[in-house]
This record gives sequence, structure tokens and C-alpha cells, in this order.
Amino acid sequence: MPRISEETIQRVAEASDIVEVVGSYFPLKRAGTSWKALCPFHREKSPSFSVNPQRQTFHCFGCGAGGSIFRFVMDYEHITFVEAVRRLAQRAGVPVIEEAGGEADEKGYSERKRLLAMHTEAAAWFHQQLLRSPAAGAAREYLKSRGLTAETAKSWNIGYAPDSWDALIQFLKGKNFTQEEIAKSGLASSKEESETGSPSSTARLYARFRDRVMFPIRNDYGEVIAFSGRVLDAQARTAKYVNSPETPIFSKGRVLFGLDKSKRSLIEAKTAIVCEGQIDLITAFESGVTNVIAPQGTAFTPEQARLLLRFVEVVVLCFDSDRAGQEAVTRSLPALLECGLEVRVARLPAGEDPDSLIRTQGAEAFQRHITEARNFFDNALDLLTAAGGMEDPVKKAAASRKLATFVPLIKDPVQREAVMGRISARLGIAPTAFQAQMRSGKTAVTRSANDEEPEVPREAPFEMPEGVVILCQLAMTDLRTKEWLATQVLADPQLLGESGNLLGRILRHGAPLDSPAALNTFASTLSPREEKAFANLVPGRVPGDPLIAAQEAWRGLVAQTLREQREAAKNRLRQPGLPAAETLALQKQILDLSTRLNDLFRPVPQDSA
Ligand SMILES: [Zn+2]
Repeated sequence: MPRISEETIQRVAEASDIVEVVGSYFPLKRAGTSWKALCPFHREKSPSFSVNPQRQTFHCFGCGAGGSIFRFVMDYEHITFVEAVRRLAQRAGVPVIEEAGGEADEKGYSERKRLLAMHTEAAAWFHQQLLRSPAAGAAREYLKSRGLTAETAKSWNIGYAPDSWDALIQFLKGKNFTQEEIAKSGLASSKEESETGSPSSTARLYARFRDRVMFPIRNDYGEVIAFSGRVLDAQARTAKYVNSPETPIFSKGRVLFGLDKSKRSLIEAKTAIVCEGQIDLITAFESGVTNVIAPQGTAFTPEQARLLLRFVEVVVLCFDSDRAGQEAVTRSLPALLECGLEVRVARLPAGEDPDSLIRTQGAEAFQRHITEARNFFDNALDLLTAAGGMEDPVKKAAASRKLATFVPLIKDPVQREAVMGRISARLGIAPTAFQAQMRSGKTAVTRSANDEEPEVPREAPFEMPEGVVILCQLAMTDLRTKEWLATQVLADPQLLGESGNLLGRILRHGAPLDSPAALNTFASTLSPREEKAFANLVPGRVPGDPLIAAQEAWRGLVAQTLREQREAAKNRLRQPGLPAAETLALQKQILDLSTRLNDLFRPVPQDSA
């Protein structure tokens, strides 16, 4: 397990703000000094999830989730602390230094950074070619014919790759990218690559994309990580679409086209419309149907499905009504069902895709098909019964066997039960017969046990008495109070029990906890239980002089502890048959405790005037 250096954690903490980070996952609404949203960790109708910028923590009053910025990313993305630090580091542009093998990681980081920079340059260059190059006339015509305006081309950074082997490569070299970097980016390929399978630094490079309309592919932060190039001449003998190959920054099966733009709409609609191609997606988005994404390639991978699950509950597949489109539906199904998404299938009129439908009949017509989309199983039953022949027992058995391979993938037992009921009713077969088919048949994709999402451990926060909460708050906001408390609390660290741990941490922490940077750094040192208690601290202003308020709260807590100890001693004293020595010791202890209690409430002597 790689260890990330303390310095990296600190730099990440300093560079991150919890409101900004949480807000990049889903929208937050301001509520006084904090920010609110529907809790992503449990289902709810009114928001009980709040993010506190003063404390740099999040907390849900509904399910008790809570903690620091690191905890949020860990729980939300289902990743480890180390991965969360990496994720935040990438976001903030902080290089990750590992304790062992740090050099290699630093190198990987700077390599990725160079590749991202190169893609940004290339995207701008392709876009300029589309706008200005006389050779791009046909590309401009093509986009116009597809109803894409100059404005749309600008907002999606659509470009044109000229029909040249080395124009892009010369441009990138002019921007000081090396031969090796260009080969690694996938924007070019070398002749040797096709022969030996690996790029060489000496081989001549050739532009991968030539005479194609270029669509930049972005990660969910909006960084360009790859390209998809569409051929202009539909009769051309080359592939209709060419995508960037797998590179250090691009993994085809993990990216969803359009996600960086549609994230917010996905969360609001709780539904993702899945289009097949980039142009379908862009047309839908620009027509106002914005909860759209497109997988790279036709079938969903488990990684893409899990990525979607963070945003939506329902997926509407909107593929072509031709055979290839229907096969894409079937191939996408296992990954989507397995991660618990409800899958619906939109039935577009024959020969139409989202792009053509919107352009001929408008966005409302498209939206209507989405609203009317049927659950995958109902849709499949519709198609089977419409095709007829269901009286034939052989056909009927074949149909139900096909459906039986998908049903076990439905995660929710109630949903699964309901779907089984509908299938046996509509095909007119006994439920037991269908179940037998399910048992004997193969499931479309066998589930591997270690592929399961890890359960998020929910630690119960420890009890924090009101007085300790106040002391924590004052220790964080007032230096004089912190110094005074340190002399009291750290002298007798056991006095407050476990609830005193967090207070002790705050008091021992050198730097003042008065900025997001300091708070995030501090939170990264806490145990999960301490972190939760920290997130539970309700920020509030304590009226009056903070030192006096702290002294009062401290006295109250000490008095309570002393009284409890005295009570315990008294109870022990009532036990029959105590040895004389112990009786004496207990009596002395009770007397001592009473004296300490009295001293506690004796007025502090004022300076005599
Ligand atoms: Zn919650």
C-alpha cells in the first residue's frame, strides 16, 4: 500500500475547500452560514445534509453521515483515504509525493499533466482549423447540415483535423512537446507502432486523425483527455469514427461523453438519457434536453455504470431502432442492472435517431419518447408478443429463456420478484417454470464477489456533552481561551473521558484553526470517530467574553465529573464488609472531592483595589 507523504496531504488540504468540492458533485443551496442539499448517502425528500464552510465539514441529520473533506470523497466515491487524497490532489493540481518510490509517481504526475496540456492545445488548434482553414469547408458544411451552429461548435469545442500527416505534429513540436510525448498522447502513431505494437521515439510520427470532424472527449472535471474523429465522406472506406487509443489519461471504458456538462441535470432529473453518438447527444443537449450522456463505443462497461449510479437511478437507453441498436441495448444491460439502475428503453420511430427526431419533430417529441420509455423487461415482452408466435411452446420457451438470463441481475429483490411475475403472466408460463429456467440457465454476466461495492462503515459518533462542544468551539476561535484550556485539560487528560479526546486534539494542535486550509489539515489527522464528532460540532457564537464562557463551561464539566466520582465512592462505602483501610480511604476521597467541588465554585479573588 503506497503511503502518501504528510506534506502532500497538507498541501491537498490547504488547496481544497469543502463547499467547492461537494458543490462539484451536486448543487448546494445556501442556508444561512452553511450549505444544504439532499443527502447523497440516504434517500430523502427534504434536505438534511449540510456543509459547513467555517468548520470545513459535512453532516447529515438524517443518517448521521459526517466528516471532513477527505471523508466525503471517500464515502461518495467509495474509495480509500489514499485514493481520496489523490483525487483531491488532481483536482487542485497538487503533485502527489509518495513516501516510497516517490520519484516514479512524480514522473507519472508530470507526464499526465503534459498530456492534458497537449490535449488542450490540440483541441484549440482543431477548433481554429474548423473556423478558419479553407480546407475545412466541407466540415463546416457537414456540421451545418446536421443543424449544428457555430455557437454550438464553439461551446463543445468541435474541430477539424486537416488531411495532413504532420501539420498537427509540427504545431505540437512548436509548442515544445517532444516526439516521445506526442507518440504517447495517441494523437499520432508511428509506422513502427503498427509493426511492433509500441511507439518508438525515433520512428516517424503520423497524425492519427486526418480529414475528420473532431469531438473532444472530456473527463468529468471537463479536461480534454481524448478525441473522437468522425469521417466526412460517408462513402469513405475507413471507419466512421476513430477514437484516441488508451493512454495514461484516457481509458475508453471509464469515460462517459458529455458528463462534464450534464452532471447537474442528471442529478436533478435522477435519470440519464443514453445516446449512441456524440452528435445525438449534442443536438439533444442544445435543444434543452440536458440530462444526456454517451458511452464511448456502444455497450456499457461496469465502470461506466457505476459512474452513472452516482448521479441517477434510472437510465433510458436511446439507441437506434435497428438491429445493431437493439444489440447494444442487450449488451449494455448486464452492467447497468448489476449496479442497481433501472433500465428503460426508448422506442424511437423506425429510422430515427435522437438527432433526426429533434430536428424534424422538435425537442418535445423527443422528450415524449423518453417519458414514455418502458422498463426493459416490459419493452422486451411487448416486442416478443407483437412479433407473435407465442402460442408455439418452443418459441415461448426460447423467449422466456432469454429473459431468464437477465432477471437474476436485478439487484433489488422486490423489483426482481415483480419482473418475474410480469414475465410469467404475459408469457403464460407458471412462475415455478420460469424460476427453474433461471436456475438452469446462465446469468448474462456472472457477478464476481470482489467486484461488489464496499459497504461504507458507519461509526457511531461518541457522546459529546454540551459543555465539551462549547469548549471545542471556543478553543478553535479564541487563542487566549485555547491557552488557558490547555493548562487545565492537558493536565488531567482522563477527566473528560472519550469526549475529551477531540478537545485534547484541538488544544495540542499548534496552528490556529481559522481557515479552510488549517481545518482540512487538522481533520486529516483525526480518527474516524473523532472526525465524526468534529463534524457534529454545531457552529455557533458563544455570547460574551470567550475566556469567561470557557471557564464556566469547564467548571460545569469538572463539577459533574467530581460529583459522579463522589457518588461512586459513596455507593462503594455502602457495601457491607469493607476492610477498615478501604473505608478510611473512601471517606478521605469523598472529603477531598467535596473540597475540590467547593473550591471550584469559590469566587475567583479579584485584584484588591
Ligand atoms: Zn443522510
